[in-house]
Order: sequence, then C-alpha cells, then structure tokens
Amino acid sequence: MHTLDRREFAVLLAGFLAGKPARELLGRVGVHQGDLRVDGRRLNATLEALGRIGRNPATGGINRLAFSEADLQARNYVAGLMREAGLDVEVDYAGNLVGTRGGREAAALPIVFGSHIDSVPEGGNYDGPVGALAAVEVARVLGERGIQLRHPIEVMVFSNEEGGKTGSRALIGEVDPKELSLPTASGRTIGEGIALVGGDPEKLEQVKREPGSIKAFLELHVEQGSVLEQSRVQIGVVEGIVGIKRWNVTVEGFANHAGTTPMDARRDALVAAARFVDLAHRVAKETPGRQVATVGRISAEPGAPNVIPGRVLFSLEIRDLEMSKIDRIFEQLRAEADAIGRDTGTAFAFELFYVSYAALTDERLRQAIEQAASALELSHMRLPSGAGHDAQSMAKLGPAGMIFVPSKSGISHSPLEFTAPEDVVNGANVLLRTIVAVDAM
Ligand SMILES: [Zn+2]
Repeated sequence: MHTLDRREFAVLLAGFLAGKPARELLGRVGVHQGDLRVDGRRLNATLEALGRIGRNPATGGINRLAFSEADLQARNYVAGLMREAGLDVEVDYAGNLVGTRGGREAAALPIVFGSHIDSVPEGGNYDGPVGALAAVEVARVLGERGIQLRHPIEVMVFSNEEGGKTGSRALIGEVDPKELSLPTASGRTIGEGIALVGGDPEKLEQVKREPGSIKAFLELHVEQGSVLEQSRVQIGVVEGIVGIKRWNVTVEGFANHAGTTPMDARRDALVAAARFVDLAHRVAKETPGRQVATVGRISAEPGAPNVIPGRVLFSLEIRDLEMSKIDRIFEQLRAEADAIGRDTGTAFAFELFYVSYAALTDERLRQAIEQAASALELSHMRLPSGAGHDAQSMAKLGPAGMIFVPSKSGISHSPLEFTAPEDVVNGANVLLRTIVAVDAM
C-alpha cells in the first residue's frame, strides 16, 4: 500500500474540492504506482554519452547516419545499457536492436516501446535518442524495483529511421526486396547496412509481425516543432501522425520574347504559378483546422532573363491527420487553379506521386498518457505529429501511443536541436507510468 506524499495529497484535495469523482482522482495521483520515477540524472548522462558518438567537433552536429561506423558504435553503447538494465539483447533480421524481458503471464502479448538513435547528416542528439534511451531507462527502473509486468516488454531501437524507417517497416512487411539495393547516406546500401549491424537481409520477411501481435506500442520523442514551447506545455499527447500527399504540378503557358510581347498578350506560366503558390498558402492557412500546404520546389523554362516562362514545374504537398481533409483542400486548389489558368491563358496539370497514410494513435493510450502526466503534475495537450515516426508503422500491429516533449525554438535536424534535461526526465516518467498503466489494462 502506498502512502500519499504531500504533493499527491494536494492534488487529491484540490480535485475533491473541485467535485471530481474519486476514481478519477485516484488514477490521477497514480496511487498504485507510488513514487515510481526514472533516474533522471542517469538518463541524461547516457544521453550525453551517446551525444559524443558521431559528433562533429567543429559544428556540434551529430553525424550518426544509419549503417555508418558511428551508428555501429552507438548501437553497441545502447546494447550495453540494455544488458545493464537486465534485458536480453538481440539484433533481429531487419537490424533492429531489441532488448526483451519476460512477463508474469507467459501467453501475454508484448508491450513494445522505443525509438531510434540514427541521425540525419549534421543533426542533433535528441531526435530519436531521447525516446530510445528513456525506454532503456524505464526497463532498468522496473528491473531495479523488482517490478515484473504481466506482459513481456520489448525495448526497440529501430534501424535506419532517418533513411526510410527500414526497421519498423520491416516489422509490418513493407520493405520491398528491391529497396535493399538502394544507397543510404552512409554510402552502404540498405541491404549491406542491415548485414553490417547484425541483421540478415535475406531473411527480412521473417521479422514480419501480424496485426494484433502486440499489446501496445509507445514512443517518446521530441516534438520537432514549437507548439509545446509556445503553449508552455510540458507533455504532448500525440493524436496521430499526419498523412501526406505530394503532386508534381505543370503549368503550360507560351514562351515568347520578353521585350516584344505586350503585357496583355502574354501567357506567362510563372505568373500563373506564383498566384497558385500564394493561393495554396492562403487556403491552408484560412481553412479551419491544422492542415499545412507547401510548394517547396519550383523551376521555370526556358529560364532566361529575356524569355517569358513557357512552362513551370513545381511540387505541392498537403498534410493532415485526415486523408479526406487533404483531398478536400486539394480539390479546392485544383478548381481555383483552373480559374487562374483561364485568367492567364495557361493550363495546370496535377500528377500525384507520393502518398503516406495518416496513422492515428489509440484513444485509450492517449488517455493513459494524460493520466500519467496529470499524476506527475505535468501540463499536457493533444497535438498531431507533422513528422513521420516509427510509431506510424507500429500502429498497424496494435494500439500505438506517442508522447512529445518540447523542442527548443521548434528546431530539429540541426546542431541547434535541444530539449532541456528536465523535459527529457518528464517524458521518461510519463512513459514509465503509461507502460505500468497499459500493463494493467
Ligand atoms: Zn525521430
């Protein structure tokens, strides 16, 4: 039986005075979980140690490209931490580093949690490592407290997240054998890289798991945006990972002499494209919701100072948690593009070339994360993830949940990426409590 500390007592009293039901209040202070906390100092020390691997001394940027020597060294370091945490460590055929511990119930499905430790070139030490090292720390604390969960646990460090989520996509059978010969930023192909870290590209299909084969998946990650910081909120409860659609857009006009063609006789494809760029920005901004639209690449032909652009090629990307919202925004843009075309004597053509489906997190897990944060007296809010994560793949195997902690100034994939040590600890504590709560579900 757990004795309430002063903080928990204050939470209970305040809630009682506010007329909250007793059951909700008890869940909120996490009575059964007592003072269960990670060792924050140890967690931040491991984060710092990992940050010395692959660091560019000149810039402070992290270069732990998947399947590079630095990645290998970092994986060995984390494997050592997993062993210290009392986990059984292995590398699966897809190159995922997996630390496991059995549960009290032999037949129970595993609770899987983790993230990645590879980086983009000149990246930071928080995108990935915060969640991966917090996962190891959570397993370690559970072991030290002698807490054996009903469900087996699997701490996952996914392979090649930044280069295409190879490890997590292999778990859902989505890595096409043709992908294995694609080069990665390390210089090795994906297949060579998987073999380098101890996997076996020939047996990749054997790591595939079936939907319903996990109890839950949980990932702690830095937000990589500025919503939490600007809202001064400590914990983000991720509603899902947004879907993405991308189009190649061609505007056909007519190339002609820039000196002899009067303004009212022009069919300038770049003028039409410019209007569209502004339109896409305005529609995404003014439509209620959190969708985003971007024109990130544009080129004009023939591309000379004295020729009216006859053809323009550009990209259009739209993201939202609901695929149907993406489609609605697109249809509106296409209709208005036709009007721009009539007005400028040009024609727009759209070719869809990329789709990534939205992955929603599980409502019960969102609530469990919220209750864990409340029990720790941490402020929290729900938000979508605009970036892709391994949780997107894992959501196909069972209920998935994601916890965000603030990123300083919303910067990531940069040497300036930073998450405060106390925020790292807050996120890890929420992860720990959520896992214990999920185990009881
Ligand atoms: Zn990441």
